[in-house]
Amino acid sequence: MRRFAALVVVVLAAAVALQPAAPARADGDPCSDYLLVGSLCPPNNPRPSQPQIGHDLSNRPVLVVVRGKGLAETMSRYLIQRIEASGNITLRTFTEVSGLEGNGRLERVHLRDSRTNERFPMPIRHLFLMTGASPNTGWLTNCVALDGKGFVKTGPDLTEENLATWRLKRPPYLLETSRAGVFAVGDVRSNSVKRVASAVGEGSICLQFIHRTLTE
Ligand SMILES: Cc1cc2nc3c(=O)[nH]c(=O)nc-3n(C[C@H](O)[C@H](O)[C@H](O)COP(=O)(O)OP(=O)(O)OC[C@H]3O[C@@H](n4cnc5c(N)ncnc54)[C@H](O)[C@@H]3O)c2cc1C
Repeated sequence: MRRFAALVVVVLAAAVALQPAAPARADGDPCSDYLLVGSLCPPNNPRPSQPQIGHDLSNRPVLVVVRGKGLAETMSRYLIQRIEASGNITLRTFTEVSGLEGNGRLERVHLRDSRTNERFPMPIRHLFLMTGASPNTGWLTNCVALDGKGFVKTGPDLTEENLATWRLKRPPYLLETSRAGVFAVGDVRSNSVKRVASAVGEGSICLQFIHRTLTE
């Protein structure tokens, strides 16, 4: 392995990885992986072309399946309002996908109601799966402090234990990790708002800390 000397490092490499859905929790609480959408294909047009699918999504019946009790805890209010206002989107709670079926392509999705254990197939030919995210930070293990989910801890989130080897008199800056001069911004950072604007904002704030660090 090659080693590089650096005064300051900024970790931007969030790279959230989509993972297969974990089993639904028994208490029915919303899980971090929450959204599944299927576009129901009308019987008179069983094999739409790909461009049609994209174009028709706003008009076709869309089933949103969520394993928890709703979307409120994991989705922005404005998006929920758009779902509620749309005439073609149906939200089904406490439901999970239990199987996929088809001959050469997806033809049916098997769903299970987690409260009644009722299972039923639906003629769904298109599936968008949103299964949550995990940070790609394995390479940072034993280098900077990570939270329980692998996101990089910074500033006030760092505990005394995390800072056992901290070598400076000052505490870590807001976006600084447990290692002085190493910063984390954006999705990879623990407790960050997972949004483009906040990732960009944190990046620009971080520049100030980098300047300060370089003059220390
Ligand atoms: C489906 C989906 C929809 C979203 N919709 C919205 C939305 O409508 N509005 C909104 O504001 N936000 C949205 N977000 C969130 C938004 O995409 C993120 O908050 C934002 O991209 C975070 O930026 P980032 O630079 O921190 O991380 P990323 O954009 O994830 O960039 C990290 C980069 O690091 C790279 N990388 C990873 N590991 C390494 C490595 N070891 N070495 C080098 N490079 C590496 C990755 O390839 C990637 O290019 C959405 C996210 C998803 C997944």
